[in-house]
Amino acid sequence: MRLSKYFMPILRDDPKEAEIVSHKLMLRAGMIRQESAGIYSWLPTGFRVLKNIEQIVREEQDRAGAIEILMPTIQSADLWRKSGRYDDYGREMLRITDRHDRDMLYGPTNEEMVTDMFRAGVQSYKDLPRNLYHIQWKFRDEVRPRFGIMRGREFYMKDAYSFDISAEAGRHSYNKMFVSYLRTFARMGLKAIPMRAETGPIGGDQSHEFLILAETGESEVFFDRDFYDMNWSEFEIDYDDVGKVAGIVDEFTAKYAATDDMHDVAEYEKRVPVEKRLSGRGIEVGHIFFFGTKYSEPLGCIVQDETGQSATIHSGSYGVGVSRLAGAIIEASHDESGIIWPEAVAPFRVGLINLKVGDVATDAKCDVIYRGLNDVGVTVLLDDKDDRAGAKFARMDLIGLPWQIIIGPRGLKDGVAEVKNRASGERENVPFDRIINLFAD
Ligand code: ATP
Ligand code: MG
Repeated sequence: MRLSKYFMPILRDDPKEAEIVSHKLMLRAGMIRQESAGIYSWLPTGFRVLKNIEQIVREEQDRAGAIEILMPTIQSADLWRKSGRYDDYGREMLRITDRHDRDMLYGPTNEEMVTDMFRAGVQSYKDLPRNLYHIQWKFRDEVRPRFGIMRGREFYMKDAYSFDISAEAGRHSYNKMFVSYLRTFARMGLKAIPMRAETGPIGGDQSHEFLILAETGESEVFFDRDFYDMNWSEFEIDYDDVGKVAGIVDEFTAKYAATDDMHDVAEYEKRVPVEKRLSGRGIEVGHIFFFGTKYSEPLGCIVQDETGQSATIHSGSYGVGVSRLAGAIIEASHDESGIIWPEAVAPFRVGLINLKVGDVATDAKCDVIYRGLNDVGVTVLLDDKDDRAGAKFARMDLIGLPWQIIIGPRGLKDGVAEVKNRASGERENVPFDRIINLFAD
């Protein structure tokens, strides 16, 4: 992409409405635009990041055996009346009446709809287990939308729903999602600590929130320092190996970690030695929940079991805040100059800076490198705008692409470009004929 033909409205000054760094940087870098409270447009670079995050989430859901579908944003109130949530959900639910006076709503989540879909499509235990997911916009009329897309009213979520013949079988479905979340967040360069979460009226011990540590997080968190030494890399796992999957869940839940609503001081002090007690703030990026027959019961989601008897299906739901992650990653990865995108989600991998636009030789060299990188599948943003060098450097640092290639008349004489790593700040002069290979995989 050539910057001279792109749409990336950079703000020079800090926007006053932004309280936290990710919101500030997203606005300044021209990634998003507020349309009304908690409702945003995603501008080109923001949209590319969102799609990259979505794709990682999708790949890891698929790998764990979940099957992608797409349910609508607008739902009928009928199923929600059956589950009892139409009244319970309260004012966070955006209620709509259509021209025939039918009660509709903009979905805040999809348990009812997917359970009814599954009920209609499946009769036998042989069709189990299954996990259906979609990545779709949600609407929750939050009391205090804030922090940009981190707490929006309209937001993009991955939600998966598992269906099993028994609570015991359901545990493996739950564990698979747990492990897939570790992989998902690891691929984005994040350490998202699984913490015990409130299970609500159904009870049971199976609910975890995944939180990344950040000063600006909305939850207070308490955890064991040992979490820092866990294996947060993108480890391999065979999802059919029930024991191995459970083993990883055990490993990540053996140490104490809880948000303030679940924090138990006595237990914390008993289980975590003083020198290992850490507390701080965290951002919830995922939440998994096993609720058994809470929705299948009222919605009649029943199959025949092996003995020919009716069995109510056991389910869980598994959410990832796809749009929130864009902000959360910035909270975890930035400096005074701007965003530092991990390669996996960056809008472009390389920012190519032409230091002397209009100079025939420099323009030509930038063009060759630009096309060469594109040819080998490297995403690149070419800064071909006629601005001062200082402004170009500041802009490129602000938008945070992982690599910068800087080409100007001086390097041209020596046959080199300067290659800068945004995260480490390291710079190196690289001969032109080696540049493409440096980035080609
Ligand atoms: P929170 O406690 O932050 O309000 P929640 O527990 O209500 O979230 P869930 O129903 O668990 O949210 O939704 C799954 C995921 O969707 C959350 O883990 C979070 O990452 C994301 N999410 C929830 N609400 C919002 C929102 N208003 N804006 C952006 N993302 C959200
Ligand atoms: Mg939650």
